[in-house]
Amino acid sequence: MTPKSDAGRPYLVGLVGTGVGPSLTPALHMAEGRAQGLDYVYRTIDLNACGIAPHQIGEVLAWARTLGYDALNITHPCKQLVLDHLDDVDETARTLGAVNTVVFDCGRAIGYNTDTTGFAHGFTGGLPGVPMASAVLVGAGGAGSAVGDALLRIGVGHLTVVDLDVDRAATLAHELADRHALSRVDASSLDKLSALLPDRDGVVHATPTGMAEHPGLPFDAALLHPGLWVADIVYRPLDTALLQAARAAGCRTLDGGHMAVYQAVDAFALITGLTPDADRMSAHFRDLVAQTAA
Ligand code: NAD
Repeated sequence: MTPKSDAGRPYLVGLVGTGVGPSLTPALHMAEGRAQGLDYVYRTIDLNACGIAPHQIGEVLAWARTLGYDALNITHPCKQLVLDHLDDVDETARTLGAVNTVVFDCGRAIGYNTDTTGFAHGFTGGLPGVPMASAVLVGAGGAGSAVGDALLRIGVGHLTVVDLDVDRAATLAHELADRHALSRVDASSLDKLSALLPDRDGVVHATPTGMAEHPGLPFDAALLHPGLWVADIVYRPLDTALLQAARAAGCRTLDGGHMAVYQAVDAFALITGLTPDADRMSAHFRDLVAQTAA
């Protein structure tokens, strides 16, 4: 890739959303920028702290463009709201209906979704060669939606969506089925996992269960078996109770750091036009998680 801007020109990037203060993404981008010899500044823009309502995201974009920002990462609760304020949206983000990266290119605001591409890249790199005929996605929220799309893009043949909220699971399954006509997508309930998991190749966990604030397992560990791969997207902590139980059951596992790192890797590439060093970003991310957990 070639750099998008003149050599030596500083990059200015922001992360817009609520509760973005503790995000590790700014440090991750800036360290990679420094390592690439760039003058790369990445700041959080917390809507609550600034007294800006989420529906004003269009104004935030306009200001950012005027003030010379090169790009914005967009997070909760603006990933859908931002769509109405873009000049163009790439195919992945448009189909998903959610944008997490906006690049200002020659005055145009272009939307991308690196949650989806990041999960896909992290998955294919971290669980190479695993069987993909069938999988279960536990968690049909914002992250689950991006992950479900990614799973179908990378070749899962039959995906079953499960959530505590059965209506939410059914809605997501319906949307995914509409967008991925060649795959089979359906919804089920948590109490059916005991019937589903014995026959499936893999399970992806996309609920907050297992985070430091929500400890525990999302489902009974007795359902884990050596024929199942297990991917968790929770990354604080990286080694969740689910992943520990999965390793003990003989499963191949993938932690949530892969998605977190690759969404940043893909965003950095879109913003700068340069190829980031994914291994370096991953090592830095794991240091940051360890430091913030200490
Ligand atoms: P969300 O609140 O939008 O959705 C969470 C969903 O999980 C809801 O639909 C809820 O009903 C469901 N749920 C909660 N507990 C459940 C359980 N025990 N069983 C089944 N369903 C359950 O949250 P989100 O934005 O989708 O994020 C979910 C988690 O994903 C976050 O807490 C975070 O840890 C993780 N995440 C990771 C990354 C990454 O880059 N690795 C990115 C985004 C989010």
